[in-house]
Amino acid sequence: MDMLTNKELFEASSKLMPGGVNSPVRSFGSVGGTPYIVEKASGPFVYDVEGKRYIDYVQSYGAIILGHADPRVTLAISQAAAKGTSYGAPTPGELRLAELIASRVAGVEMLRLTSSGTEATMTALRIARGFTNRDKIVKFDGCYHGHSDGLLVHAGSGVANLALPDSGGVPASVASSMIVAQYNEVPELDETVAAVIVEPVAANMGLVPPREGFLAELRAECDRVGALLIFDEVITGFRIAFGGAEENFGIVADLYTFGKVIGGGLPIGAVGGRSDIMSVLAPVGPVYQAGTLSGNPVATAAGSTVLGLLEPSSYLMLEGRAKYLASGMEKVMLEVDLEVVAQRHGPLFSLFFGSSAVANFNEAKASVSKGIFPYFFHAMLDRGVAMAPGPYEAIFVGLSHDWEQLDRTIDITQAAAKEARDKHFLASKSQ
Ligand SMILES: *Cc1c(COP(=O)(O)O)cnc(C)c1O
Repeated sequence: MDMLTNKELFEASSKLMPGGVNSPVRSFGSVGGTPYIVEKASGPFVYDVEGKRYIDYVQSYGAIILGHADPRVTLAISQAAAKGTSYGAPTPGELRLAELIASRVAGVEMLRLTSSGTEATMTALRIARGFTNRDKIVKFDGCYHGHSDGLLVHAGSGVANLALPDSGGVPASVASSMIVAQYNEVPELDETVAAVIVEPVAANMGLVPPREGFLAELRAECDRVGALLIFDEVITGFRIAFGGAEENFGIVADLYTFGKVIGGGLPIGAVGGRSDIMSVLAPVGPVYQAGTLSGNPVATAAGSTVLGLLEPSSYLMLEGRAKYLASGMEKVMLEVDLEVVAQRHGPLFSLFFGSSAVANFNEAKASVSKGIFPYFFHAMLDRGVAMAPGPYEAIFVGLSHDWEQLDRTIDITQAAAKEARDKHFLASKSQ
């Protein structure tokens, strides 16, 4: 086949797949232009089909933490695949991954593996409802918990990128079982509430850390009415700390959901928690959940390898690099008079245009509505730095981003910030 350009491939894809993508966040819907089509990736870099190299801060939206195509993970995947890719029977590999997760998060006494984070969160809600015999679920505006019906209400991330208030196709009856609260404010619950689901560090409305005391107060309010607290750690799990949010904040949830990092770049998810609660799941209890590929041997081999390579010291290293990059980017942007606030928790950060810190989704939307992100995104991309093409996504620094690439990113940021500032200024003048 002749070498095709990004544009040619994207046009062909758009005829066959809605929007040319298999997940809306990958489209350039909120920044304009044509996505780069990835041919391959290695360490901190992705390469598009035209041979252009980018320093990659998408890192599969946080599924990759060691860097792309880490040889140790690639070897584990090929060795597992050579033994068969799916059996429909229990395996030692799934036990190994379950042990790794449960040994790091004290609140996880039992768990079930799924094939995606979405399946984990939708199962968590079903478990909570089955355990409490209550229907209502509280979620926070701008927190993303996957694409199951009820959880798409006020969902941040990709839904927000496309400026959709909520997804179409969600029955009003499902939406009406959801209660939406503002992040960093503790809602008053009552005894109809089965569970409160929260991203312990919100990472799908930009990066919004919990204020001091927020998670503890939420824990107490759940306990007051007998509602379960669900930590959705699909992004934060094994990324912000060796033991995730529980280790960072000292708060134990009733249920936890994981995904992304625990699959080492392969499709996976997990829901876990207190064993009395988890025991409502079939075949032990009455709450049904299943999956042909759940606990897939290739995915569990990749995930176990990644978790096995992460040590408490890895997180100090990750945090050090994220801190260096976040403060470096913020500094050079402010130097060219582009107002920005870098918000960070541990190794996760994002940039909010404007002069004040962001504590919830309304404040995040106000920052995004300045309209600077699309200019900044393209100015960075043109210079070889790939961020996720949406203003509500985090910037993912991994263990493969070395100081040289971080310094290069900061240099590029300065030039890109100047360009974004000027283009935004011209565009706002001509309106
Ligand atoms: C990505 C994400 C999900 C959904 O996981 P998928 O594997 O994409 O289905 C759920 N919750 C959070 C916090 C996420 O970031």
